[in-house]
Amino acid sequence: MNRVDFLLINPWIYDFSAHDFWLRPYGLLKFAGKLRKEGYTLFFLDLLDPFHPRLPKVPKRKAFGTGHFYKEVIPKPTYFLDVPRKLYRYGLPFEVFKEEVIKLQFSAVMLTCTLTYWYPGLFYLLRFFSEFYPEIPIFIGGIYARLCKDHLQSFIEKHISSPVKIVLEDLDTFVDGLKKKFIPTGNPLAHDYPAFDLQRRLPYVILQTSFGCPFSCPYCASRRLNPLFKQRDPWEVVDEILFWHTRFGVIDFAFYDDALLVNFENHLGIIIESLLQRNLKLRFHTPNALHARFITGDVAHLLKRAGFTTIRLGFERLEERIDNKVTTEEFIEAVQNLKEAGYTSRELGAYVLFGLPDEDFEGVKKSLFFLEGLRVAPFLAEFSPVPGTSLFEISKSTSRYPIEEDPLFHNKSVFPALKKPPWERIQEIKDLARGIRTRLNNL
Ligand code: SF4
Repeated sequence: MNRVDFLLINPWIYDFSAHDFWLRPYGLLKFAGKLRKEGYTLFFLDLLDPFHPRLPKVPKRKAFGTGHFYKEVIPKPTYFLDVPRKLYRYGLPFEVFKEEVIKLQFSAVMLTCTLTYWYPGLFYLLRFFSEFYPEIPIFIGGIYARLCKDHLQSFIEKHISSPVKIVLEDLDTFVDGLKKKFIPTGNPLAHDYPAFDLQRRLPYVILQTSFGCPFSCPYCASRRLNPLFKQRDPWEVVDEILFWHTRFGVIDFAFYDDALLVNFENHLGIIIESLLQRNLKLRFHTPNALHARFITGDVAHLLKRAGFTTIRLGFERLEERIDNKVTTEEFIEAVQNLKEAGYTSRELGAYVLFGLPDEDFEGVKKSLFFLEGLRVAPFLAEFSPVPGTSLFEISKSTSRYPIEEDPLFHNKSVFPALKKPPWERIQEIKDLARGIRTRLNNL
């Protein structure tokens, strides 16, 4: 029996689709890093672990550490019967989860849940620990807990007998509180970097160099989760990158920043220049999208020289914009700068918002063709209403679901903001985006 202070679990995902496009429970691993620095011993059980030896089928891996998760089809609830897709549970089979937990002794369980509509995985775990480990305290953090606290609280009150705390304070305050109740049984680590090394393998590391975003788009959770935009000391970020590269040989790094390029000269510029001086062979990826308006010629050249390999730009749409983060002219100029710096269509992609209330399908098509004209691969970002945003309020009246009652109805794949999604047209647009990507890839 392996005895640890805390058991940390990344839950299953119940969804129509989920990919390991640099998808890690960053907050939970960051928390784990802080706990290790205090001397706590941990077991990280990643229920999405694509490398677990007991998976019935090995999920495919792709470039730069990305890949698939193991998945099993599950029955669709009646309210999703109109959605022409299969529903899956992504992650380890239940028996494997139980085998893992039985081997352990722990003083508390720490759980997380990222997207609001992924809570079924968390709820399964809550029921499990409440039934089989009723004395063990449970701590729950993550975006779902922060955005939908009342929904979570109501489930706990009705179904869970364990002592449960929803963690809303910042991590340092929370760890200070824990220290009053739990005595660490291990040796403190010298650093508090997110505990990526607790994973079975380390194909990539996530970086977050800033919190929040100076913009305020009506569909985005950034401002709600981080009301103030803050950047970390760039030299600390350099040390963190060097730590993972020299100690663990990590080459691929993905940024979770919402506004990576803001204040470039005093922030990312310093990080890049410092890494370039060391002549390392690293690759960087920006799945969260970069602000095109900050990509000047100099910025584009630096990104290219530093090894930024996957560039995603926030485009959203060509006409009738509902945000002000970029104009069409700024976007065109950014793409020109990136091309001049040596980027090809294979490396450049842009997100197009799809599925907004009263969606203009022709407008989406125009946006896709516009990107094809610029030779930038289009990726559809299906709209999910985020509680606390103005588009959530609008979606309440355009949705066919009571989205304010159950976060399951925020699922982007069900096109929750539409009264009656025209599935054939939706598929046509998805095929169009895929076809354009294939054409651009073959250039
Ligand atoms: S610019 Fe991006 S991160 Fe910032 S508020 Fe808008 S969508 Fe969110």
